[in-house]
Amino acid sequence: MTPPNTTTSTRVDLALLGIRGRPPVSRTAGAGPSDDGHLVIDGLNAALPRNPQSPFAFDGDRILYDGHDTGLDVEVIERPKFYDLTTVDGVRYEQLARLHGRNVLATTVVQTCIRYSPDQRCRFCSIEESLRAGATTAVKRPAELAEVARAAVRLDGVTQMVMTTGTSAGTDRGARHLARCVRAVKAAVPQLPIQVQCEPPAELGVLAELHEAGADAIGIHVESLDDDVRRRWMPGKATVPLAQYRAAWREAVKVFGRNQVSTYLLVGLGEDPGELVAGAAELIKMGVYPFVVPFRPHPGTLAVDVDGATAPDATVVEKVSREIAGLLRSAGMAGTDQKAGCAACGACGVLQSLGG
Ligand code: SF4
Repeated sequence: MTPPNTTTSTRVDLALLGIRGRPPVSRTAGAGPSDDGHLVIDGLNAALPRNPQSPFAFDGDRILYDGHDTGLDVEVIERPKFYDLTTVDGVRYEQLARLHGRNVLATTVVQTCIRYSPDQRCRFCSIEESLRAGATTAVKRPAELAEVARAAVRLDGVTQMVMTTGTSAGTDRGARHLARCVRAVKAAVPQLPIQVQCEPPAELGVLAELHEAGADAIGIHVESLDDDVRRRWMPGKATVPLAQYRAAWREAVKVFGRNQVSTYLLVGLGEDPGELVAGAAELIKMGVYPFVVPFRPHPGTLAVDVDGATAPDATVVEKVSREIAGLLRSAGMAGTDQKAGCAACGACGVLQSLGG
């Protein structure tokens, strides 16, 4: 591999190849992309895979490529102070919520998922592994999250919160517990913007309940708009038709507003890049922010442990991200205009480095 020569392509290479070394803020298994180290690079949040084979190394305050300083402006995020606190019941705050990037408090309110059977689970996800490892608790109680959020804002200057959930068997898909958690956190720290994330609820009225509870933004994550890819990579989630996603996005835009709704689109699942960009254009037209994220192979997932999947091609990731960033700019939709959430944080993708 030739050494990276521009900031953007270096950022893309870093997103794919990751780093050796362990920044003070790191996470292991969990929902969505995980097993990464969090830094601020050129002023933007960056969640980089931790990869012992990477040619990039984090040496404590710089990122080196083959032993030479890349010249990237790296800000190290210190371990947050709230991690050292414990609830009266003896649960460490760190088990209830984690710092993502420099300013996002993230939690998975229900750490189990009805889809997590060997033949149904999403092949890139390891939501229940962190539970098995004792790193987190199965269900976060609203009062616990309120306590943690208050401390994270006071001690560590957290400015937004993301609440995701494993999918429950109910028709609300877990949204009602999310709403209870939002209500409790907002009562404790009213100024803290919150994004919630869930599957499309079968009853769309639940979206208004989430908003009334105080959620500022919502992520309804489809990961791929290609049904063949969906069936291959996420057999359980693929049983929810794309039409149901579209109905939920439309309703969510009505409730939360344009550009306060987002979805993940993963690059590297075998989709056609042109179709991915066309699908993103359709989402943008609806007012939904397509948060494009390179597929990240990490241990604990079926993709790695069974399929031996590898990271996508850097040129494809850069091209797709660049084109979608351009579409977002033309539509006047910036990730940073979202009040809270993954698009606002941006660390798991490269869209913000490209102006999207
Ligand atoms: S983009 Fe989302 S999952 Fe990634 S670090 Fe930011 S808040 Fe966490």
